Amino acid sequence: MGGIFVVVEHRQGKVREITLEMLAKAGEWKNDLGGDLTAVLLGWETGSLIEALKGRADRILVIEDERLKNFEAEVYKLILQQLIQEVHPSLTLIGQTSWGLDLAPCLAVKTGFPLVTDCVELRIEAGRPTALRQMYGGKIFARVSFKESPGYLATIRPGAFSPDPSEDHQTEVIKKQFPAGLPESKKQFLELIESEAGEVDISQADFLVSVGRGVGEEENLALVRELARSLGAVLSCSRPIVDKKWLPKYHQVGTSGKSVKPKVYLALGISGAFQHLAGISGAGTVIAVNKDPRAPIFRVAQYGVAQDLFKIIPALMEQINRN
Ligand SMILES: Cc1cc2nc3c(=O)[nH]c(=O)nc-3n(C[C@H](O)[C@H](O)[C@H](O)COP(=O)(O)OP(=O)(O)OC[C@H]3O[C@@H](n4cnc5c(N)ncnc54)[C@H](O)[C@@H]3O)c2cc1C
Repeated sequence: MGGIFVVVEHRQGKVREITLEMLAKAGEWKNDLGGDLTAVLLGWETGSLIEALKGRADRILVIEDERLKNFEAEVYKLILQQLIQEVHPSLTLIGQTSWGLDLAPCLAVKTGFPLVTDCVELRIEAGRPTALRQMYGGKIFARVSFKESPGYLATIRPGAFSPDPSEDHQTEVIKKQFPAGLPESKKQFLELIESEAGEVDISQADFLVSVGRGVGEEENLALVRELARSLGAVLSCSRPIVDKKWLPKYHQVGTSGKSVKPKVYLALGISGAFQHLAGISGAGTVIAVNKDPRAPIFRVAQYGVAQDLFKIIPALMEQINRN
């Protein structure tokens, strides 16, 4: 009874980072809720997935069946509903990902539990969670309470929490049978289309060099790319760079791009619109270069250089090449 369910998201034999982020944070919340932390793993050939999860939860609840080879929200929903009815977790966490967006609303309808989506923080007060979520494209944060219920559902924004590298749980692995009598899914998995070769995951980078409209022309990106390469950083950008098709969408930071949490975020020619700043709230040290000393980016930057980026980048490159 009680405790927390974390629905394990995986693809091609790998546990996705969002699962590890949720497990790390849920470890803190379970102290306030009571009960165990359970990773719920539905899949096929789950051996390597179980290994990756060991130490990160009190229990891994596994249903392994070939019918679970590919994610299918209809099937997941029915199995999770049964598991929730059996174990009665107080809180079930799902990633705010394409998986989660498919699964969470229909699970909420099926269970009748309240669902808060896209949470960037949760707090447990008197046994009930309250969630922090962004609204109006990241302009405001709203604290949302759940109505009283035997169980609560929340989807968690990727990158909102750090995955805990420590594996300090004694993990029990419990295998269960695929439930009998489930209705046939009305959908059929056809194929997995891989993302473009060379795609980088900026949400996992420790050091981001981020470029904005201040770069002026597409050909000037080469200079920024070269700086990122010399610093061992990953290249990211603001939205206008993507809108102009100078960089692919997966480089974009912000409310309609990705939330990032690098140790260092170097912003070059980025004004600091709220939609952009919402994506860097988890960044460690923000360094901004902008020729306008009143640019809003300087309000969040620990270090700021009010200068032309075309003067700063060559000076930085010179220093790097000297060392
Ligand atoms: C629904 C919605 C969602 C959005 N989502 C996102 C999002 O996810 N991410 C995002 O980034 N934006 C997003 N935006 C757009 C956002 O509002 C801003 O328009 C955008 O962030 C501005 O990008 P920028 O800072 O690169 O450009 P600008 O605001 O044009 O700023 C360019 C900056 O470069 C400086 N500059 C110019 N030349 C130089 C130079 N030579 N050297 C140094 N500095 C220089 C200027 O002083 C200026 O501050 C969204 C907007 C909407 C409406």
